[in-house]
Amino acid sequence: MSAESAESGAGAAQAGADCLFCRIVAGEIPATVVHETPNTVAFRDVDPQAPTHVLIVPRRHVPTVVDLVDASPGELAELVRAVGDVARMEGLDRGYRTVFNTGREAHQSVFHAHVHVLGGRSMTWPPG
Ligand code: AMP
Repeated sequence: MSAESAESGAGAAQAGADCLFCRIVAGEIPATVVHETPNTVAFRDVDPQAPTHVLIVPRRHVPTVVDLVDASPGELAELVRAVGDVARMEGLDRGYRTVFNTGREAHQSVFHAHVHVLGGRSMTWPPG
């Protein structure tokens, strides 16, 4: 069970019309889509934290990345492959950061699995 599911069980209930990223995947809410595969969609974050800030989501509604690997390891592999494609397309040859926020304490705010791809500036560690 994912962190969010364990907290509230709200993830499944948020699917479809109630889920922001489901609605972006369906084309109901506009987004700047930069890459698509049969099972993933990548679009620019509306509040970018770096010169490149792209979110890659599975088309399937699952609350977290752990739920995605449980549901379909192949779709998780496709998501990670899309990270490499986006990084190449964005020219992030000097490096980039990938972030899966999982659960409220980790600052996950949209409970549809997604990976942040951040690049185009130097990163610091530890993250805040
Ligand atoms: P997280 O906090 O890890 O759940 O990330 C959710 C991300 O979705 C945040 O970085 C938001 O800026 C981003 N976001 C929220 N609404 C939109 C939107 N309509 N289009 C693109 N990105 C969005």
